[in-house]
Amino acid sequence: MGPPGAGKGTQAKFIAEHFKIPAISTGDIFRANVSKGTPLGIEAKRFMDAGEYVPDEVTNLMVRDRIDEPDAVSGFMLDGYPRTLSQVEELDGMIKFTGHELDAVLVLTVDQDEIVERLLQRAQVEGRTDDTEDVIRRRQEVYTEETEPLIEIYRGRGILIEIDGMGEVDDVTQRIFDALDVIPES
Ligand code: ADP
Repeated sequence: MGPPGAGKGTQAKFIAEHFKIPAISTGDIFRANVSKGTPLGIEAKRFMDAGEYVPDEVTNLMVRDRIDEPDAVSGFMLDGYPRTLSQVEELDGMIKFTGHELDAVLVLTVDQDEIVERLLQRAQVEGRTDDTEDVIRRRQEVYTEETEPLIEIYRGRGILIEIDGMGEVDDVTQRIFDALDVIPES
């Protein structure tokens, strides 16, 4: 978890490689559907371009299908999910029957004002249509309202790990590995 631009996608890839599990990024799956022009993509694009969350029913079904794929049988890492209370409950339901548990929930903490700059730069490099200043601010607001409160839920379950997400990418990765390597697998 972490606000837009915290570096979730970047770090998720390193974590997935390190633990040899797939990184499942809801943002990436939505974007792939948008570029292919699928019905899911057409529906999701309206919300993404406005900085709003895609409705829970749509997102939940998509994640449910993805973690049923064979490559996720012995574990997976989620990037950008869950982001709402309903998604937390859905995920609990999905995992219950797999015999696994959530081993850890990572939060990347960053200074939101500072990362607006990062996101505006990314807009130039990647051409993401949701990286304009207004939409970025809206995404930050939605994160604060809908997703930040979930941190306390996972803290209450004793699986929350907060990582300082500022500084060099490699340093953040090292902080994450140091924290995750000592966690027993379920
Ligand atoms: P960021 O975290 O930088 O905003 P993402 O690539 O993770 O970027 O997500 C981009 C957009 O995709 C979000 O603004 C939202 O519209 C949609 N999205 C991604 N994950 C979810 C989710 N779990 N629930 C609802 N919408 C989502």
